[in-house]
Amino acid sequence: METKKRYIAYRCPSCGDLTVGLIGKFAFSADLLRLKCPCGESALDAKIRANHKLEISVPCVYCKKNHNYTVTEDIAFLRERFSLACPYSNMNILHFGDEDAITEDGKRTGLELSDVLKNLEADKLSDIQPQDLDKEDILPDPAVYDTFRFLVKEMEAEKTIDCPCHGGSYDLRFTDDGIQVYCPSCGATHLFPAESVSASEDYLTLDKLELK
Ligand SMILES: [Zn+2]
Ligand SMILES: [Zn+2]
Ligand SMILES: [Zn+2]
Repeated sequence: METKKRYIAYRCPSCGDLTVGLIGKFAFSADLLRLKCPCGESALDAKIRANHKLEISVPCVYCKKNHNYTVTEDIAFLRERFSLACPYSNMNILHFGDEDAITEDGKRTGLELSDVLKNLEADKLSDIQPQDLDKEDILPDPAVYDTFRFLVKEMEAEKTIDCPCHGGSYDLRFTDDGIQVYCPSCGATHLFPAESVSASEDYLTLDKLELK
């Protein structure tokens, strides 16, 4: 069976351009995908979960912050096209599809966006976006994520990480607030806040971690 190339796309909250990335091989090789807008001001993160779910953190052009979604791999990789909407503005902000679908959907949401701007008599994107967000909403670097992953796997092996169900196997995800370590069985979590994750070296000597 010939499979068409799969793309993922979002509109950058900073420059307003559609950022498109190939996701074809990502499903089977890396477990973390980062798609950065060429302007450098926003990035989408996607992660494959063990249960064939895809966890995605996507910048929203309307809210100027990331929204988190979980979709099945089938939706992301097999459906001809698929879009996800911002929970606040109800506008589509994330697209999956082949090249044609992405181009079409990108054009359509571009028009929707200019309509919104026109209706609100706004000249530029920042006129319709919330202004009270500060820099801490910026996502942590994948390198930092890897550092934490390494740390958690090491603590797992040394059994210095624990949770109410003593599951013994833990995972990480990006959230709006930072990097969260969690137990897939009981759901207990520990958050490394966004403002501290850039200084990740401090955590490399963590003796014990108790998820709650
Ligand atoms: Zn941009
Ligand atoms: Zn939004
Ligand atoms: Zn647990």
